[in-house]
Amino acid sequence: MEYLNEVIENLKAKNGHESEFLQAAYEVLTSLKPVIDKHPEFKNMALLERITEPERLIMFRVPWVDDKGQVQVNRGFRVQFNGSIGPYKGGLRFHPSVNQSIMKFLAFEQCFKNALTGLPIGGGKGGSDFNPKGKSDMEIMRFCQSFMSELYKHIGQDVDVPAGDIGVGGREIGYLFGQYRKLRNAYEAGVLTGKGLEYGGSLARTEATGYGLIYFMREMLKANGKDLAGKTVIISGSGNVAIYACEKAQQYGAKVVAMSDSNGCIYDPNGIKLDVVKQIKEVERGRIKEYAARVSGSTYTEDVNCRNIWKIKADIALPCATQNEINLEDAKTLVANGVMAVGEGANMPTNIEAIEYFLEKGILLAPAKAANAGGVATSALEMSQNSMRYSWTFEEVDKKLDGIMTNIFKACEKAANEYGLSQNYVAGANIAAFDKISKAMIAQGII
Ligand code: NDP
Repeated sequence: MEYLNEVIENLKAKNGHESEFLQAAYEVLTSLKPVIDKHPEFKNMALLERITEPERLIMFRVPWVDDKGQVQVNRGFRVQFNGSIGPYKGGLRFHPSVNQSIMKFLAFEQCFKNALTGLPIGGGKGGSDFNPKGKSDMEIMRFCQSFMSELYKHIGQDVDVPAGDIGVGGREIGYLFGQYRKLRNAYEAGVLTGKGLEYGGSLARTEATGYGLIYFMREMLKANGKDLAGKTVIISGSGNVAIYACEKAQQYGAKVVAMSDSNGCIYDPNGIKLDVVKQIKEVERGRIKEYAARVSGSTYTEDVNCRNIWKIKADIALPCATQNEINLEDAKTLVANGVMAVGEGANMPTNIEAIEYFLEKGILLAPAKAANAGGVATSALEMSQNSMRYSWTFEEVDKKLDGIMTNIFKACEKAANEYGLSQNYVAGANIAAFDKISKAMIAQGII
């Protein structure tokens, strides 16, 4: 414990202003305690110091011209955190909240998540404080081109393979790929994932994170003698992860009664009509509020903090919007209302106090780095298809995804049981991922 505390204190001293990164590192490190106790030799190797220090952090200027001819400047990032098991891999986030701390937390988490998939991918993340909301298509394109004009120097299909995240969907990936291809004068399809189907994308990538979350949830419930059929579900967010988690949960017979966006949440006691949500969010790029105007019997509550949704009674809660959207108070409300399982679709949606509370109360908690790994796993399948210059069918990719998620659950369960932490899948995920990364790092020497 002494070594662990030392590492945590040093991290705080060095990165005091990076609260999200410290939170992510603390959560992982503390859950590794039984492993560290078993391996005193890690201290001499400075293994924990190395695993919490990014291999490289690139920060760059992104100048672009808006529709009025005014020059705008944003800040771009790429964090290449750990490449010991494969090329760095992780999404790009375009959101005004993006800063170094958020980038580092996401890249750190990504290393563990990617290790859990069983596929050969290291961890990275990137993005910009650019706000795509309210921008025209041409503004988005000019921004993406400027962003890629710097990023292309640092990525490559065997080096670092970015993908989408919040604010970066198919449209942005298309503009980024076009600029990369132009600058490199080569068709290196495997340099980005989340591409359109016409130019190297994979079927089922769009659905993968949401579907994968539900496959993990299915396995976790099964291992505890429960299932999804007939359960009431609430899902925060109404973006990519939320929509496809809703679709798969409904296919398994669950009733999803609430969804949200960054302005508020909708409640539909008859069950969310997902075609209406898709029309509003995917086609019209509108606000979730419009659902209530279109579907009778549903209601809308304005809620800028994304918190009212957790007051709705449900058996299963799926936070699929953003980090730290469930705090201790929300966790207490959910438990008081009878929630039995929580599945993290978003990255780090539950803060540390809330995680501890859920575990203490025996709530089944599917941790993000395991439960939302379906997206990156399918991205890796996209890379495989690009290398083979071949495409699998939707059913083939979906079946592989299901198998990967089932294996991830089993790995978390096994690691948790091995250390006498049964049902603590949070610790199980961290331990299983750490086992793989640490072995690869040790094998490769002091690098
Ligand atoms: P999207 O941009 O498609 O959707 C995000 C959703 O969350 C939107 O409904 C958005 O509302 C809402 N939201 C975003 N920020 C906030 C906030 N601060 N408060 C309240 N609501 C908010 O993103 P994704 O669905 O792709 O990603 C969601 C989460 O899942 C993120 O944490 C991401 O890192 C994680 N993730 C995504 C993967 C993927 O494959 N897409 C893979 C693994 C993890 P609004 O419409 O108002 O912006």
